[in-house]
Amino acid sequence: MNGTQLSMKEDNLLMNGLEIRKRIIENNKLIAEQPHNIFVLNQKIQELLDENRRLQDQCPHEYDEMGFCIYCDKEYK
Ligand SMILES: [Zn+2]
Repeated sequence: MNGTQLSMKEDNLLMNGLEIRKRIIENNKLIAEQPHNIFVLNQKIQELLDENRRLQDQCPHEYDEMGFCIYCDKEYK
């Protein structure tokens, strides 16, 4: 048995706030690990950023006292 298999769920339409929080943290970690420079955005980074944006769109935002969503980091406007 190996536990290295990655399963990326594409159907995250039913994710709740905590699941969104967890996924965005994972994505940001992956983004930080990607080799990249300021001129050419790594394809993988672009995909992760796109997913974070989709997660923000479906997030049931809850803003903290600083005005940022506790789940997806979106700023309250
Ligand atoms: Zn949110």
